[in-house]
Amino acid sequence: MIANYGFRDGSGEWHVTIDTDKCDGCGKCAEVCPAKILKVGPDEIDIFREEPVAIVKREQRKKVRDSCAPCRPACGEEPAPCAGVCEPKAISFSNGWKKRYQGLGRKA
Ligand code: SF4
Ligand code: SF4
Repeated sequence: MIANYGFRDGSGEWHVTIDTDKCDGCGKCAEVCPAKILKVGPDEIDIFREEPVAIVKREQRKKVRDSCAPCRPACGEEPAPCAGVCEPKAISFSNGWKKRYQGLGRKA
């Protein structure tokens, strides 16, 4: 299933998306996330699933626009750290960051 964590408002659409069918719960994304917004835990979307999956921490979901901004996710440059280490390619992003930051490079 597709789990979208984030929000949409007048500034754009800001979602970190986890494809829980692809996620194997390895935890690598959480280890490399500089903002520490990811963790591996129970699947909130499919409550019958027993294997843990990557999720965005509940208290971080309204902050992803700013938390993820330094990584410039899906901006056509290198993948964000979380996406880069995810071998099953289970992580993707809505287009808010791309619209705002594409071509501007990563924040130091
Ligand atoms: S790196 Fe990918 S497969 Fe591993 S926990 Fe994160 S989203 Fe799931
Ligand atoms: S884009 Fe960066 S801050 Fe956002 S979840 Fe991925 S590694 Fe963490």
